[in-house]
Amino acid sequence: MRDANCIFCKIVAGEIPSRTLFEDEDFKVMLDVGPASKGHALIVPKEHYANIYELPDELAGKAMRLAKRMATHMTNVLNCDGFNILQNNGEVAGQTVFHYHMHLIPRYKGSDEMILWNANHFSDEQMDALAEQLSVK
Ligand code: AMP
Ligand code: ZN
Repeated sequence: MRDANCIFCKIVAGEIPSRTLFEDEDFKVMLDVGPASKGHALIVPKEHYANIYELPDELAGKAMRLAKRMATHMTNVLNCDGFNILQNNGEVAGQTVFHYHMHLIPRYKGSDEMILWNANHFSDEQMDALAEQLSVK
């Protein structure tokens, strides 16, 4: 399954070059061309799925296992001090390439390229209602 207009499908097909760190039957792992830090890489499934909602459960599990393997390997090689694994779904969430991918972002002490957000405040009543609304029945 591929999308004719998708840049990651073109990379997987070898039509656009990438710096590949790992490849198996299901995934390619490559360096991000606009890295948040030294070593920022992406786990990309070879089949086209736009986002986490479309990704089959089996591949979701494999992607997380591969993220653990890559994070361990990259931390050993880069000697980084921490690691972010993140994944955007939808434009409003910051997704710009609509082919599912996981970001592997090494973090280094003393660098200020942090992923931060301002904590919002919701009342106790709102939090109770949210917990009830979101509880998986
Ligand atoms: P997202 O915003 O989560 O959709 O992330 C898309 C990521 O893909 C960005 O970090 C881009 O820098 C990266 N990217 C875009 N084009 C390429 C490319 N040709 N090769 C490698 N990474 C890319
Ligand atoms: Zn694609």
